[in-house]
Amino acid sequence: MLIGVVRETYPGEGRVALTPAAVVQLRRAGFGVLIEAGAGEAAGFADQAYAEGGAEVGSRAEVFGRADIIVQVRGYGANPEAGRADLLRLRPGQVVVGLLEPIANPEAALELAGTGVTAFALELLPRITRAQPMDVLSSQATVAGYKAALLAAAALPKLFPMLITAAGTITPAKVFVIGAGVAGLQAIATARRLGAVVSAYDVRPAAREEAESVGAKFIELGLETAGVEAGGGYARAMDEEFYRRQRELLGRVVAEHDAVISTAMVLGRRAPVLITAEMVRGMRPGSVIVDLAAERGGNCELTRPGETVEVAGVKIIGAVNLAATVPYDASQMYGRNIANFILHVFGRGGPDLTDEITRETLLTHRGEVVNPRVRQLLGLPPVPAPSGN
Ligand code: NAD
Repeated sequence: MLIGVVRETYPGEGRVALTPAAVVQLRRAGFGVLIEAGAGEAAGFADQAYAEGGAEVGSRAEVFGRADIIVQVRGYGANPEAGRADLLRLRPGQVVVGLLEPIANPEAALELAGTGVTAFALELLPRITRAQPMDVLSSQATVAGYKAALLAAAALPKLFPMLITAAGTITPAKVFVIGAGVAGLQAIATARRLGAVVSAYDVRPAAREEAESVGAKFIELGLETAGVEAGGGYARAMDEEFYRRQRELLGRVVAEHDAVISTAMVLGRRAPVLITAEMVRGMRPGSVIVDLAAERGGNCELTRPGETVEVAGVKIIGAVNLAATVPYDASQMYGRNIANFILHVFGRGGPDLTDEITRETLLTHRGEVVNPRVRQLLGLPPVPAPSGN
């Protein structure tokens, strides 16, 4: 089978779906790879490196025209404007693998189905141990968490570490991480490496041990959190009264910190608002909020996705697509995830729909949206699971 890699067209997207190392891995397993000229350039991978790894290099039209499987970082759905042009290039029976935003943008899944492609949306990957080597959400959240800590450090008018110098002693910055999931844990670890004193909070009781293991002091709000875990590590959506109590209790904690990195998210929902405008006004001027939930509406009431706003001397950074700003290593991780996914699904012939990973990530097949959750979002009746390939 021939795997096609196209240049990403989402604005500011620096990543590429396969690196030369991932090409070698796939070639060894018997796949051919055809990459669009310049696809890896923004991430630091030259066409020559792909060619040396055994890939052919061609035009975009050639990749869409010849490849059996198209791999992307942001496929249509996750790239609704610039990605639209690709819909006309796809052909029935072709396979598409990438981030397709099927939960936030289910209408795009309908359009993809209309092209007749078999699309796999990596956001739908089940959160099971076996799937971890293919988990792009986790690998990219790791990069985003790291970068969020750097953004906070760069925007703060203070140093992160404690310094004892002839010019006096500098006290360390205090960083508060809300949401100790994949991104939050990496933000904690990075802020700690830079010398900050880090506190963390999460609704999931299991997060305490994880946050402490990377060096954070865990903040308990004393809220009842039984039943908060929705499976796979995801937090359940709580009612507005719960969030109101959270905001009330978080106000004092937020005001005590120099930098807040917020990552609290709930699958398929708008991110909970945990920091109000009033709480921002309670922070010291010069403080910084990096809101990693900006793309999902933001954890701070004042967040504007993709922008930095300043209110009462507090900077609120609406961070979006942060993994794309570290394209070299984000692509290494993404590429490895993709290669593992391809080997899992196509390594032994056609897709085996009795396998949980394959079945749950399958979004469209033979002209239909087949994922039950996405069908429900679209108001479509359930379809029997497709059989065969
Ligand atoms: P996420 O991006 O959905 O959310 C980020 C964090 O925000 C989560 O830890 C969540 O509990 C927290 N959160 C949600 N609402 C909150 C609120 N009101 N207040 C405070 N915090 C809130 O989650 P994620 O980072 O993708 O994953 C969370 C956990 O899932 C990870 O720590 C990991 O243990 C587990 N996980 C498992 C697998 C696997 O087994 N394959 C894969 C990925 C993640």
